Amino acid sequence: LVQIRGLRKRFGHHEVLHGIDLDVTAGEVLCLIGASGSGKSTLLRCVNHLERPDAGRVTVGGELIGLTERGGRLHELPPKRLQAQRANIGMVFQHFNLFPHLTVLENVIAAPMRVRGYTRDAAVATAHDLLSRVGLEHKADAYPRTLSGGQQQRVAIARGLAMRPQLMLFDEPTSALDPELVGEVLDVMRSLAAEGMTMIVVTHEMGFAREVARTVAFMADGKIVEQGPPAEVLGSPGHERTRSFLSKVL
Ligand code: ATP
Ligand code: MG
Repeated sequence: LVQIRGLRKRFGHHEVLHGIDLDVTAGEVLCLIGASGSGKSTLLRCVNHLERPDAGRVTVGGELIGLTERGGRLHELPPKRLQAQRANIGMVFQHFNLFPHLTVLENVIAAPMRVRGYTRDAAVATAHDLLSRVGLEHKADAYPRTLSGGQQQRVAIARGLAMRPQLMLFDEPTSALDPELVGEVLDVMRSLAAEGMTMIVVTHEMGFAREVARTVAFMADGKIVEQGPPAEVLGSPGHERTRSFLSKVL
């Protein structure tokens, strides 16, 4: 479903991604691990074109993301088309990013109505389904500030799913949570994975990676140093960089 080839990204003189190749098959969970500053968030942001790659290409479902080829050169897609592509790619961030002035229900229905053109009734029906899936049906009329971090993050997941995406991106979705709230968010993600959602998850939760990921990719200094099944990458890493990283986080 996702194909990344020769992806490079630089900020000023600093090249943050030095040629990334990565594939994610439909229905697969890929966990991305690596030290702070290794480029995990930048890689994820290139997948939905929140960052524009300097070289290389990202395709989702065979479609080049954010760019179009014309006269042998790549040009930015018109905003409407980029928006349509992004509707297909849900993203959940570390800091929830819910709209504070909207209720939980309104947070979940806003984008499907605006971008997908759903009627309010249709969007509300879907939102109730999704909220009950994440265990928050009873909070539909609450405002985000009245919820715990774990509840806010579950709303953010429901909001991402409301667009009926083919792919979900998670950037350290549990890193900002108190330890006792991590489990409820991982449980929701685990059930999503079991239903066959394709997911790329940046995480430090090695238990989750071991249990849920088909593939774990370890990044260091803007490169993928090693990738494979969790038992291999986490259990018997082939590279010194991976071993030294794991010895710090496990
Ligand atoms: P963390 O685990 O801390 O979230 P990360 O692996 O997600 O780290 P990135 O956020 O992708 O790392 O950052 C990689 C490098 O790119 C860092 O050195 C960071 O300072 C730099 N960087 C990221 N975004 C920008 C930006 N918008 N402008 C300039 N430099 C940036
Ligand atoms: Mg990051």
